Amino acid sequence: YTLKIKRGCQLPAETYDGSRVQVLANIELVEEIPAALDNGAEGVGLYRTEYAYLNRTDLPGEDELAEKYIDLAAILSPRKVVFRTLDLGADKFISAFGELNETNPAMGLRAIRFCLRNPELFKSQLRAILRASAYGNVSLMFPMISGVKEVRQAKAWLAQAKAELRREGVDFNPEMPVGIMIELPSAVMIADFLAREVDFFSIGTNDLIQYSIGVDRTNHHVSYLYQPLHPATLRTIKLVVDAAHQAGIEVSLCGEVASDPFCVPILLGMGIDSLSLTPQAIPGIKRIIRQTNMHDCRKLLRKVLECRTVSRINGLVMDNIFKSF
Ligand code: PEP
Ligand code: MG
Repeated sequence: YTLKIKRGCQLPAETYDGSRVQVLANIELVEEIPAALDNGAEGVGLYRTEYAYLNRTDLPGEDELAEKYIDLAAILSPRKVVFRTLDLGADKFISAFGELNETNPAMGLRAIRFCLRNPELFKSQLRAILRASAYGNVSLMFPMISGVKEVRQAKAWLAQAKAELRREGVDFNPEMPVGIMIELPSAVMIADFLAREVDFFSIGTNDLIQYSIGVDRTNHHVSYLYQPLHPATLRTIKLVVDAAHQAGIEVSLCGEVASDPFCVPILLGMGIDSLSLTPQAIPGIKRIIRQTNMHDCRKLLRKVLECRTVSRINGLVMDNIFKSF
């Protein structure tokens, strides 16, 4: 029986009527790769790189990072791995930089903002990721992008890192795909512009819900307002998916919503290209995808988009789940 379950995990995430979605894993440590692959991940859609910087007093150097990244790319090859550049700040700090003492850290100097303020730190990571790109199927994405200028600045540092490596005769993939995370309402509103700057989008709903509904994702007093099925959340995600597809780029979703069985059929209906989720949730989500069909998902999406309240959407989504079992 266990063998049967194991084989089931490795089946492709394809709907009953033949639509294929990529199911990838979110990981924080290289040690999670075996669990991700055993659970049927087709690759890594989000590698949260900040963990190598935490719980230490110094900063990891480029060689230390490159060694780790090369391992990851080589072990996973030919499967893909998407490196997210440092997402520090808010709740994650490195002692080498001390506390920033911000009143509102979630809206402060975090993620790409922090990296652009500390270019040497940023460039050493970009160089390490580029070095790993010579060993496997590596993509890179920038977190918390708020506008076009930030993407261009980040890409300028990447171009500089490439030029340096080229001069030094170090191998890398010059065509490495570059994407951004869509986590801020400002990025949603200009998704059509942003789509022309990059190769792919990855929607980070954990932050996107926080910033669009205005509810701290870690505050239990207001957790009742943190709603993936809020009509605004769904419209927001759909705007991003449509903008990406209109521009001809792929769009993935890597927030917790990707492991929510109630949300996944709606995301399929929108035409999401891939989902990236915690390894343990992959078998269940793959099973849901295989038991559903795209025609029903699109119908569900149409109905859901007409609903004005979360409770009405919940009702529709519940009916849909029980229908498919
Ligand atoms: C997100 O915001 O949805 C996301 C995937 O990033 P993190 O949870 O690491 O902020
Ligand atoms: Mg995030």
